[in-house]
Amino acid sequence: MSAGCIFCRIIRGELPSHRILETSRVFAFLDINPLSKGHALVIPKSHATFMHEVPDEELAELLPAAKRIVHALNLHQTPNVGGEIPDKPLVSYNILQNNGRMAHQAVDHVHFHIIPRPDTNTGLQLEWNVK
Ligand code: 5GP
Ligand code: ZN
Repeated sequence: MSAGCIFCRIIRGELPSHRILETSRVFAFLDINPLSKGHALVIPKSHATFMHEVPDEELAELLPAAKRIVHALNLHQTPNVGGEIPDKPLVSYNILQNNGRMAHQAVDHVHFHIIPRPDTNTGLQLEWNVK
């Protein structure tokens, strides 16, 4: 833990967040300034600035957590304007992970972005409902 780190403070509950998943090693919450609905951040609970500093056993839990969130996203698309329930789940999303200022890292606690990309052709919207 790092005393002044905002993501460590979020994990400790000192700052508010919309938590969507928590395990003994991993915490996930909605991004405060989302690039799309459901934009989530997945972070290790122990503080590290860069991905290459995270112990293997912690790193190994981050992508499975991201996978769980993506599966949850897939289950909760709303009907489109015609009222049809989509037969295809959401399959478009970006996983983004920035390290260092030159790579646009703004928060110095390792985080993986999950950025849903709803289908702009059909107008289908994502209903965020991950517990
Ligand atoms: P970076 O550029 O470091 O990869 O992304 C940092 C992300 O953290 C940004 O998308 C930003 O919106 C998000 N963020 C920064 N401060 C907070 C906060 O206090 N709460 C939440 N939920 N997200 C934050
Ligand atoms: Zn931290």
